[in-house]
Amino acid sequence: MRKKFIQTTNRITALLLTAVLFAGCGGTTDATGNPVTPFKAAPVKTAMLEEGRVEYEVPENFPAISVDLVGYLPGEEKKAVIRTKKLPETFVIKDAETGEEVFEGKIKPFSEADKDGFLTGIADFSGLDTEGTYVMEADYVGTSGKFVLRTGIYDELLKDTFKRLHELRCGEICHKSKVSLSSDPDTQLDISGGWHTGEAGERDVVSGCLAAYDLMIAYQYHPSSFKDNTGIAESGNRIPDILDEVRYETDWLMKMQNPETGGVYSSVTLNTGTAGKKLYIDGEATRATVNFCVTLTHFSYIINKFDGSYSRKCLKAAGLAWKCLEANKDIVSDEQMYRAAVELYKATGYGVYKKVIDNYLSSNSDKKLESRGAVDAAITHMGTSRSANMTYCGNLMNRFMGRTHEKAALAADCAYMVESAELDPKELLRNTSELVVVDYIITSTEYLKLEKNYLHYLCGRNIKSELFLDYGNSPEAYAMLLILLGRLEDI
Ligand SMILES: [Zn+2]
Repeated sequence: MRKKFIQTTNRITALLLTAVLFAGCGGTTDATGNPVTPFKAAPVKTAMLEEGRVEYEVPENFPAISVDLVGYLPGEEKKAVIRTKKLPETFVIKDAETGEEVFEGKIKPFSEADKDGFLTGIADFSGLDTEGTYVMEADYVGTSGKFVLRTGIYDELLKDTFKRLHELRCGEICHKSKVSLSSDPDTQLDISGGWHTGEAGERDVVSGCLAAYDLMIAYQYHPSSFKDNTGIAESGNRIPDILDEVRYETDWLMKMQNPETGGVYSSVTLNTGTAGKKLYIDGEATRATVNFCVTLTHFSYIINKFDGSYSRKCLKAAGLAWKCLEANKDIVSDEQMYRAAVELYKATGYGVYKKVIDNYLSSNSDKKLESRGAVDAAITHMGTSRSANMTYCGNLMNRFMGRTHEKAALAADCAYMVESAELDPKELLRNTSELVVVDYIITSTEYLKLEKNYLHYLCGRNIKSELFLDYGNSPEAYAMLLILLGRLEDI
């Protein structure tokens, strides 16, 4: 199966490159810590303060100098962003412990004043390559948060992110007892396991499926970044730990499937019953069943080379979910059926799934790739040598490249080097997987640069100097972050 997967990957890469070249896209050349101590508005004596107090309503608690609070790698581009009403001309970098000045540079103005009167400038200190812990300082704007300059920081961040995800495991020491169905409290099921998606032991099927799916994407595109030695109980079993983590979730997901209908219960939630607040299993739901079908199928072909019998078990459960979707077609959207069929067709090659795909594409092939399901389906579709629909694949690839170009162009116009200075971190993380996939197919230094800047943004180089690394402590956010970190670890 491994061989098969690699062949498939090579074939599709060749196919896509051909398609893109035919389409005249120019091939490869065209692709373009520590929490910060809030910086209080310094008691400055310049004219700045005299402009009135109103201006401080919003930004007063944000440091004016935004740095990557996780840190920078020696030998890489290193930049900080300064946002203020009066831009200093120069900056210095000091050793955070001794206060000794180690670097001095000019601040390059980036943008004119915005509607609130704020200017931005870039402080480039790429010339500093001595490992250490530093702060940046400049006139009028004060001091940045502490940052380190050291090799291995991305590697540590990847391990830490994986560990945080792993710690969301339920059922090892908590929530082991059976849980009642909300529709029938006398029926109690063993639904232990899975990742917590809430602090009281809640677990959500769709969130879990999306996270598991993203972990597979992280592994599939950059397998060498994910080892079998992270120190979890399964380490050393010759299966990369990231896939063990997926399996922990899929084991639970299978417990959430009703074996009679094939439908999947949507979640384990905290509800108020006669005995007070306790966990219940919510009813079967379309969205949960679709996502279950997609994720279990995808795992069947990822895990196959490590464990054939588990792969078959996943595919069987997915097939059962498909039957449930078919039996309830009237409430399942065409896009949902297509999404599941794309995965099942890749896994099995059965004509019944191809028919669903062809029917869907006959009237939707130009549909905008807006929903997550549509984007993921398109990516799987492009990686399925069986489809052999070169026109559609080429068209998809052009669209993905177009979107990525657009993001890179917007990032070039933004001081924070991402699409927008107020980019929602979850949206950024969502964009990441698409970027990493496009970058995998048509490698470009521009894409790599954007990926690095995405990470800087998440690590504090944003308007609020906020760390977005544990965004909601959700499995989905960690999994998306692992896609990015897996990419950056594989350079
Ligand atoms: Zn638990």
